[in-house]
Amino acid sequence: MNVPEELRSAALVSKAWPHEEARKLLKRYPDGPPRGEILFQTGYGPSGLPHLGTFQEVARTLMVRHALSEMVDWPSRLIAFSDDMDGMRKVPPGVPHQDMMHAHLDQPLSLVPDPYGCGHESYAAHNNNLLRQFLDRFGFDYEFLASSDCYRSGRFDEVLRQVLRKFRDILDIMLPTLREERRLTYSPVLPISPESGKVLQVPVEVVDAEAGLVRYTDPDSGQEVEQSILGGGAKLQWKVDWAARWVALGIDYEMSGKDHIDGVVQSSRIARVLGARPPDGFNYELFLDENGEKISKTKGNGVTIDEWLAYAPEESLAFYIYREPKRAKQLSVGIIPRAVDEYYQFLAAYPAQAWDKRLGNPVHHIHSGKVPDVKLPISFALLLNVASLPGVGDRETVWSFLNRYDPALTPEASPELDRLVSYAVEYGSRFVAPALRRRPPTAEEVPALRELDELLARDDGTGREDEDPAILLQNHVYEIGKKYYGKERLREWFKALYETLLGSDQGPRMGSFIALYGVENSRKLIAEALDSA
Ligand SMILES: [Zn+2]
Repeated sequence: MNVPEELRSAALVSKAWPHEEARKLLKRYPDGPPRGEILFQTGYGPSGLPHLGTFQEVARTLMVRHALSEMVDWPSRLIAFSDDMDGMRKVPPGVPHQDMMHAHLDQPLSLVPDPYGCGHESYAAHNNNLLRQFLDRFGFDYEFLASSDCYRSGRFDEVLRQVLRKFRDILDIMLPTLREERRLTYSPVLPISPESGKVLQVPVEVVDAEAGLVRYTDPDSGQEVEQSILGGGAKLQWKVDWAARWVALGIDYEMSGKDHIDGVVQSSRIARVLGARPPDGFNYELFLDENGEKISKTKGNGVTIDEWLAYAPEESLAFYIYREPKRAKQLSVGIIPRAVDEYYQFLAAYPAQAWDKRLGNPVHHIHSGKVPDVKLPISFALLLNVASLPGVGDRETVWSFLNRYDPALTPEASPELDRLVSYAVEYGSRFVAPALRRRPPTAEEVPALRELDELLARDDGTGREDEDPAILLQNHVYEIGKKYYGKERLREWFKALYETLLGSDQGPRMGSFIALYGVENSRKLIAEALDSA
């Protein structure tokens, strides 16, 4: 990447979190990366489908990677690692052939047959494939690596020998963190039974570290077994596994959720015992649902990535994920409209900004520095207001309003706006329109509405050169509000307009709304309200 001098200087002092994170790597290697490149890693457990958590971890890690590339010319890669050697502890609900799946409990996910019958080598291979499709859909630049391949190909053999050599040291790190009954059975190494194919949670004794040999008692047969853990004969217990992966692959950077803080501490100690430096990174906060509860894959609360993408562009999701990764944020459909509008506001501001400001602008990181030049003529919130009104909920009608508002606006000339019209129709019909309830105006509101209607009849805001009708119409609304409510109570006036005309307790700038929806149509809304009084 050819980085302009100005950009590089700004990046080196940027306070944006991806640059702060990348700075950790500059400190890690003051003389440059010893292996000639920086390796980033993200983790994925193929016992379920890829989800928002997967998306955000890969997206955020790539933001750090890109920030690093702006600061220094070091090659780097991202490994998306799938932990498919993990034993299947319970059968995932909703998966077909539950009986068949039960017969494979505790086997590595990479040995469980594909229950979907689409010809994948295993259940893990099926989910790994979904993960890749998922990551490809967002155009992420990554290399996929499956744990099962690393174990079976011998790529992890050397680190497995090292685990056996340092067996006692690893136990000294792990045992004090465990409850007493767990200490009795804990082993850093989980042999895979040649009989049952299960990942065994049994105490293990090292026989010969260099040969990779361990001894254990098979819980099914009661027989003592001596077995090589190399080449797929075992997997490591997860905190040891995580550390071994860092060591064997040479990972320099990996972020993880706040729920893994303990894991990072212990895995980092184990990595040092194994002879390597643990990666840099940070713990991001987890998302909460609209009730402030942790989002869980099994409960299905919060919002799924497919839901978000049905109602808003992908960039708005990336925008939401970019901001404040160390704060617990709500993730529900209710936050989507604001995320969309804020994204476009930052996008519109970008071209005029100097580099230091650009690097603090989320869109720089969302678009890896290649920020499209887009200015929306209408906010998403306003589109939603119009698209949610009775009789408007389809693309053609929304476009007829847009086109009358500004004849230069057409789906062909404004593809970005066209995309948002579709989203506004989807979101509006699903979430906004069903909740709209127009109430009759009160005795105080009736004369104010009547006078607003008369003012609109006299002056529809058009016909004046160089003056935006939306602003003139907003002035009308203000004028009536000041007369009937006074400056201090203007909010009440706006609330009354939203509640009696739109059926909602909040809404857009009324001037912009009237300009877009049309003065005639807006007067019809007023007439309907007055009739209901
Ligand atoms: Zn399949």
